[in-house]
Amino acid sequence: MKKANMLSSIIRDVPDFPKKGIIFKDITTLLQDADSFKTAIDALYGQYKKARIDSVVCVEARGFIIGAALAYKLNTGLVLVRKKGKLPYKTYSITYALEYGTDTLQIHQDAINKNSRVLIIDDVLATGGTIAAVSRLLKKCKANICGIGFLIELTFLNGRKKLKGYPVTSIIKY
Ligand code: AMP
Repeated sequence: MKKANMLSSIIRDVPDFPKKGIIFKDITTLLQDADSFKTAIDALYGQYKKARIDSVVCVEARGFIIGAALAYKLNTGLVLVRKKGKLPYKTYSITYALEYGTDTLQIHQDAINKNSRVLIIDDVLATGGTIAAVSRLLKKCKANICGIGFLIELTFLNGRKKLKGYPVTSIIKY
């Protein structure tokens, strides 16, 4: 099996996607390789197996893939954070600033019990804006955020600054 530090070469860089100037980290090349996918999930599992997590919280859409595999391995529940209008039951919402405009994320009001130990998982930490918003959403649920884990961290964007106060880990750093 591969070592986690060998995974960076299997992620595909796609320049100018979805717009000019962005180098998109395409994780499909990692997901479609059984050995790499397993190595990545096992590395995250290694970080959190002793953290007594109750629920993994993940964000649509690529976060669902990583979050679901990890929740299965950690033997925890899986909680979905989705774009506005996608969740069918009563929700809490959070609106946050994007480069241009705003976006709104939602979670089901009954998704998390008060004080339960949650782990937030996403594919890429870029500016940190999305996950900072998710952390505020989880405060509305009175969750205890025990960790925030990413498959990839774009360190040059300093996303960790927006997540101050939370333990953040990432498997692959650029
Ligand atoms: P951010 O809020 O800036 O940390 O990024 C939010 C989401 O955008 C991440 O969860 C990724 O799914 C996606 N994203 C941002 N930058 C990139 C990138 N360079 N390559 C791939 N996905 C990205």
